Amino acid sequence: MSKEYRTIRNDVSLPYRWSLGPVWTRFFDGLKDEKIYGTKCTQCCKVLAPARPFCPGCFGAMTEWIEVGQEGTVTSWTLVKNRYYGQIKEPPYIMALILLDGTDCGFSHFIGGIEMTDVEEVKKKVAVGTRVRAKWSQDKNATIYDIAYFEPVG
Ligand SMILES: [Zn+2]
Repeated sequence: MSKEYRTIRNDVSLPYRWSLGPVWTRFFDGLKDEKIYGTKCTQCCKVLAPARPFCPGCFGAMTEWIEVGQEGTVTSWTLVKNRYYGQIKEPPYIMALILLDGTDCGFSHFIGGIEMTDVEEVKKKVAVGTRVRAKWSQDKNATIYDIAYFEPVG
């Protein structure tokens, strides 16, 4: 005979503050000035954006600041059409990884500026390899949302 377990639903909210430190502070301050900064590894020479203090690949110091391209190439994307708890953006929207020009890693952000109600139409405009450009928000607060989204170019 199996024992029956009763459950109840309980959602946990976890608001928190995160100390940015000098590297992320400088990165976000750059966004306020419509500049995207990465840092270059002193050992493997990779440029990663957002900027970071050490290389996650070889643990080398990343002390050289590089202003990277505001355009890049989509390497992965997904169209989000469903709502879920804690979502920060009203669907539909596209999350993508973008290889910004002059960098060696994916930059995670939204793709926008296109109609998103029909996935087949979206697929005509967004694909792996699509070139995109940063569209800056009018109001900037030194946050990742100073970039409103990346929009397809060409
Ligand atoms: Zn490295």
